[in-house]
Amino acid sequence: MQTKSQGVEDVGGTDEANAQRSREILYATLWMQHSTEYRAAALQAFESARAQLKTATKCGTAEAGQLQQSKGACGAKSPWAKRPAAIIFDLDETLLDNSAYQAFQIKHRELYDDARWETWVKSEEAMEIAGAVDFVEAASKVARIYYVSNRACRRPIDKIRVEQKVRELCPQLLDTMSRMAKLGFPKAKDRSAFYLKGMYTDLRSKEEIRQKIAAKHRIAMLVGDDLEDFVESRAVYAQNEAALAPLWGKRWFILPNPAYGSWPGVLSADIEQEVSKACDPLETKEARDRCAYRLRYETRLDKLKVWLPLE
Ligand SMILES: [Mg+2]
Repeated sequence: MQTKSQGVEDVGGTDEANAQRSREILYATLWMQHSTEYRAAALQAFESARAQLKTATKCGTAEAGQLQQSKGACGAKSPWAKRPAAIIFDLDETLLDNSAYQAFQIKHRELYDDARWETWVKSEEAMEIAGAVDFVEAASKVARIYYVSNRACRRPIDKIRVEQKVRELCPQLLDTMSRMAKLGFPKAKDRSAFYLKGMYTDLRSKEEIRQKIAAKHRIAMLVGDDLEDFVESRAVYAQNEAALAPLWGKRWFILPNPAYGSWPGVLSADIEQEVSKACDPLETKEARDRCAYRLRYETRLDKLKVWLPLE
């Protein structure tokens, strides 16, 4: 059985620690790049969504997609019947495949880094997740589509129209739009279809963006790879699981992402205080990172549900 000390002592100097950290996504990345199973899971998600398009766009509610969505009245009876239906898509690992960036992290022993990510976005090398363009195209014929992403602006652009200024404040927006246009996604040249993180001063979270879209539309479907593409938080989902779970496969469609997202945070959430206490006082960022990694890694090992063989 793996013990705390065995797991943690394996993490040696910086190089070794970074290698271990980056390789935690090795299997997930290989699965995403090479398995027919991953491709099949994506095709299955989009095909299931396509089968529900007609019903979902008829029955959407005015609300952002949480509890109220499950209570939505259909057709003319709906108090929101006259509003246009909207479908909200996440981008990364929902429509866009960034596994080559993950592979870079593994090869170069790097953790996720904002500046490197921005360079990756600028390279416009993200690929399409299998089945994504076809489905968004079909969705765009029956609903307004919105792309809501955690790709981030450096500073809000609000009403700025001048291209040069937008490029300065939010290069990821223009680079993302350009890449998506080349991949053939509809509305890729329409800036109003995009909501990036920090793009507008008053919209601070995906939930606030969903509420904003819901104010003028019936939300028909949400498509994402992370629970936060659907609900405000894991706690909200847990408290309302009985009402929300029936939306999967009908209004909510999820793509698999074993490599990253909000889910790994759950594994070490209960030790974050301990992490700050032990690691914050350390002098360099590198030392703080390594200290936090050790504690989180240890906690993750403890989260394994381990078989104990009887001798
Ligand atoms: Mg995503």
